[in-house]
Amino acid sequence: MGRTFHLCTITGIPLKAHWSFGLTLLFVAYVVHLHNLTVAASVGFILLVLAMFVCVILHELGHSIAARRYNIETLDIIISPIGGLARLQDIPEEPKKRNSCCPSWANCKCYDCNNCWMLPALHIGHKAYS
Ligand SMILES: [Zn+2]
Repeated sequence: MGRTFHLCTITGIPLKAHWSFGLTLLFVAYVVHLHNLTVAASVGFILLVLAMFVCVILHELGHSIAARRYNIETLDIIISPIGGLARLQDIPEEPKKRNSCCPSWANCKCYDCNNCWMLPALHIGHKAYS
């Protein structure tokens, strides 16, 4: 997995950042510099990127909460520039339980629909800001 850095603990689950998450900070600095953004626009862009990662963390917490219902602990949640990962102590054998903890696109159920509100929320936030 590579080196990770502990950020905080949420409901007993350690939240960590993969070392490559630093690339996200470089990306933000690059975009701010490339587009010569004003301070206000830079803050808005940083908040947008933060909001995106809050959504990723909430998504992973959704997996963790689903797993907790089956007494499966989450070792940690790791965020990286390409998304997040909730590392579960175990993967349930029973398909119904497995799908609720680890849904795939093919069998997406509403257990994973904590994403559904995020895009509209980000859109509304963007509209309110701009
Ligand atoms: Zn997921």
